[in-house]
Amino acid sequence: MEKKKIAILAGDGIGPEIMNEALKILAVIQRKYKVEFEYKHALVGGAAWGKYKNHLPEVTLEVCRNCEAILFGSVGGPVQEQNTEKWRGVEVNSLLGLRKAFGLYANLRPAKLYPSLSFASSLRKDIAEKGFDLLVVRELTGGIYFGQPKGRKGQGDEEYAFDTMNYSRKEIERIAHVAFRAAQKRRKKVTSIDKANVLTTMVFWREVVDNIAKKYPDVEYEPMYVDNAAMQLTREPSQFDVMLCGNMFGDILSDESAAIAGSLGMLPSASLAESTFGMYEPSGGSAPDIAGQGIANPIAQILSAAMMLKYSFDMPEAAEKIEEAVEKVLNNGYRTADIWQEGKKKVGTLDIGQLIAENIVT
Ligand code: NAD
Repeated sequence: MEKKKIAILAGDGIGPEIMNEALKILAVIQRKYKVEFEYKHALVGGAAWGKYKNHLPEVTLEVCRNCEAILFGSVGGPVQEQNTEKWRGVEVNSLLGLRKAFGLYANLRPAKLYPSLSFASSLRKDIAEKGFDLLVVRELTGGIYFGQPKGRKGQGDEEYAFDTMNYSRKEIERIAHVAFRAAQKRRKKVTSIDKANVLTTMVFWREVVDNIAKKYPDVEYEPMYVDNAAMQLTREPSQFDVMLCGNMFGDILSDESAAIAGSLGMLPSASLAESTFGMYEPSGGSAPDIAGQGIANPIAQILSAAMMLKYSFDMPEAAEKIEEAVEKVLNNGYRTADIWQEGKKKVGTLDIGQLIAENIVT
């Protein structure tokens, strides 16, 4: 049987706890789908600092190079210790380091509000109760965050600062293809987010995406200004399927969609390279406030593993079975503390992982 090699970077805080539950789920998938996963564990973040004085040591990069995907937990220490040697720059060093090392240019962040969890959303009740299920596809390595030149000049009243936004045709085309292909596997709609009424880069963005859209006649396509999109997300999020965004707009709108979806503990993400290689991680952080207590919600980590099956290992059915199991456990009233409400059954990290594992029906 062919082995699929996965780098397991559990990291800090709740990372190792929620990672264990994802591995529990993958064990079920191995049995049911007759695949074999080979795990290569490596240190990252504060966990790596203790041994290597480096948040992303070469040994960890080497492990990742020898694998087909990275399943990542989270990194970071308590917020009040951010400026200590151990934790300073940990997120940037670990995450940006991995993005750079593996050319991870496409960030996929699904945001789903399960009707049974509508109480956790910041949306108005009648809007939340309709639920939504959208995917933000964000370009991750270009745009204004990386454009050159950038800097500060002058002094006193004359002092000014500047950034540069640019996108090449190739950069826009490859992220647009990711969005349209993702839409083909979902509800077949792409909304491309831009600011083509003001920015030249965005006029170009719209032109290029318009052309790519013609290659996907089975996918409904509409461009939308970013200010309108931010508003539509709070008014009628169920209208969106795939939202295609440049780096900065994607950063903002994916956080907005996470907020309206409720708990951070529910949201997975994927960062993909041009090949099938990808890194998969929860959208939340290391949650030091609850680490080691056995109460963290492992669902984001479990759904990140499901995304890995879908995008790196071409196992969309197995991914769907995991998503269905999660939904079933929630519908049966089981909740971790972060999504608990009166009348529901409160369970810990291990228990909800076990329940999801038992509910994977193939
Ligand atoms: P956080 O996401 O870790 O926590 C914010 C709040 O959400 C906390 O109250 C936490 O308990 C809760 N939460 C998050 N994930 C949860 C889960 N799975 N189950 C239950 N509750 C959950 O954000 P923060 O507190 O701002 O940051 C803590 C540390 O995490 C910092 O060091 C920060 O730099 C780091 N961080 C790392 C990543 C990453 O690794 N990708 C992302 C964000 C923050």
